Amino acid sequence: MKKKMAMLSIVLPAYNEKQNIANTAKVLSGLLEEKGIDYELVFISDGSKDGTFDEIIKAAEENPRIKGAEFSRNFGKEAGIFAGLELTAGDAVIVMDCDLQHPPEVIPRMWELWKEGVEVVEGIKISRGKESLPHKLSAGLFYKIMSKLIKVDMNASSDYKLLDRKVVDVLLTLPERNTFFRALTFWVGFRTETVEYEVQERQYGESKWSFWSLMKYAVSNATSFSTLPLQLVTVMGLVSILFSVGLAVQTLVKFLMGTAVEGFTTVILLILIIGGFLMLSLGIIGHYIARIYEEVKGRPKYIIRRVTDTVQGSVTGMWKKEIN
Ligand code: UDP
Ligand code: MG
Repeated sequence: MKKKMAMLSIVLPAYNEKQNIANTAKVLSGLLEEKGIDYELVFISDGSKDGTFDEIIKAAEENPRIKGAEFSRNFGKEAGIFAGLELTAGDAVIVMDCDLQHPPEVIPRMWELWKEGVEVVEGIKISRGKESLPHKLSAGLFYKIMSKLIKVDMNASSDYKLLDRKVVDVLLTLPERNTFFRALTFWVGFRTETVEYEVQERQYGESKWSFWSLMKYAVSNATSFSTLPLQLVTVMGLVSILFSVGLAVQTLVKFLMGTAVEGFTTVILLILIIGGFLMLSLGIIGHYIARIYEEVKGRPKYIIRRVTDTVQGSVTGMWKKEIN
């Protein structure tokens, strides 16, 4: 039996979500108070330019269970999630979007599962909600590639999940800079259950993902989570070796039979094909070198510019002089 009442922390990364903060804070605190769950809400403003952090400060003044931090610039949702995890104190932590697309009604079910001893509760989407066609297509392509590469079905999985304190602590000790939260929780293991939910419509504002940002995210996650593209280079090499053996035999036979002058087309094609393969391979290797370069630099995942008064103690990634 737990001695003191268990606390649930909720991490909410927010990028230009000014209109959502107050409403989301109200909906979540209302729900958790009604269910008698001890809680804290941790909002991370990911370098927002629309005054999102002022809204967070306002919310924190009204409700001391609300904390927040603001990044010095936009570091991306992954960084927001990890900064949020760092600031939590709860025995269990839920990560969700702050636009209420992840329905809060699922929280009590996740919480019940956690109380039964489940350490990771994965939120699984049963529908992707209403999205524009280009978004649907690019997201579809993105998840297909990702699922293949990391061998986890990514199409239904999401960043909406509950993690036990143990799991949060493990995630926070991972030294890598390029993280892929959604897949890392599969990688760390632990006792996992799933909860299905239906993606809701966005409350206010619009989606922060463009086609290109999704593609960039896909490539960055693929290279940070899988070395399969590198093995692909080897496969391409093998294929061209097999091909060239065939051609070599043909060329030699022609030469020996004294009919060897033709074949300019073949030469052009060979240069083009092999040139293409080589450049593609260099590109793939280049991506990995870039990853290694970024990791080796060892820069922090994010820089925190300021925090709300409700945040106590020192904060990782924070400009040290500001800490009281
Ligand atoms: N987000 C973030 N940093 C970014 C982009 C998005 O913190 O650079 C947050 C955003 O505020 C939201 C969540 O990530 O809470 C999901 O983003 P969004 O709703 O735009 O994505 P979608 O639901 O359309 O996939
Ligand atoms: Mg959203």
